[in-house]
Amino acid sequence: MSTKAAAILLTSSLLLGACGSDTEPAAPANSAAQSGQADAGKSDAAEQTATSSGTDTAASGGVPAQDKNEPAKTGRENQDVQGTEEQTPKLYRMNSAYNIVPVKDDGTEKKVVLLTFDDGPKEQAMVDSLLDTLGKHGAKAIFFVNGYRVKEHPELLKQIDERGHIIGNHSYDHIVLKNEPLAKVRKQIKDVQVLVKDTIGTAPVFFRPPHGAGGDVGRQVAKEENLLYMTWSNGSLDWTMKKSDPNKKQAVINNVMDQLHPGSNILMHELPWTVEALDELLTKLEQKGYAFVDPHSIATEASKLAP
Ligand SMILES: [Zn+2]
Repeated sequence: MSTKAAAILLTSSLLLGACGSDTEPAAPANSAAQSGQADAGKSDAAEQTATSSGTDTAASGGVPAQDKNEPAKTGRENQDVQGTEEQTPKLYRMNSAYNIVPVKDDGTEKKVVLLTFDDGPKEQAMVDSLLDTLGKHGAKAIFFVNGYRVKEHPELLKQIDERGHIIGNHSYDHIVLKNEPLAKVRKQIKDVQVLVKDTIGTAPVFFRPPHGAGGDVGRQVAKEENLLYMTWSNGSLDWTMKKSDPNKKQAVINNVMDQLHPGSNILMHELPWTVEALDELLTKLEQKGYAFVDPHSIATEASKLAP
């Protein structure tokens, strides 16, 4: 029941998030990029440490760090139901490697993945396709958005929210935050909190720093804003690909499947090749027995404060 409940949890509006696409490219230059930890490798020592734990699983060819003896139930009975944060049981939490794991060892499905899309919202057509594909698979995702993008396309943010997904905070301008002064980092994060709340009525509860490089200052501000700070544990590397690259769709799918492990926190972006790959990717994940964790069921700083 917990499994089912987890899947059903649905909806409210806790997250924020989103990584961008063209912005992340810098990270891939690092060797770390090959394991999908590009952003982390990028520089931030703190990030690197944090992500490296996630790397264990990813780097080892996707061998699950956790048990996979649990029967694969799909907690995907969820429809596009609008729920409230309070109504959604927090059956999952994020661990130090940014994986999503059950709060209790009570049979809650461990074989889950978290789907995240960063750096939007950009274009109606891509958003439509992503939302339709997610809907087809009964999956809910976190869209980590940038403030300047939301300013350009508030209607896309509303659409994403109305389809039951979570909006996460990815900073206003998608700059590397870790070396910026506290006041600037506060503004980068708080302005998105305000903008998202003004647009959809709820402020984000999830934060992902651009390039995975928030540093101590990013963590501090996230805490101040009761945001759950995360990078990722399974990078699709879609942000490293160029328009001219061949077989990008297959590469996105292969990158994720190669790093697949229970609790995978999958980083993707609003990019044409990822949009194109999503349906097949989700099908492959389902075939491997993975369920898509409802982000509303993940415990956050904010939910801990709730009565
Ligand atoms: Zn990004």
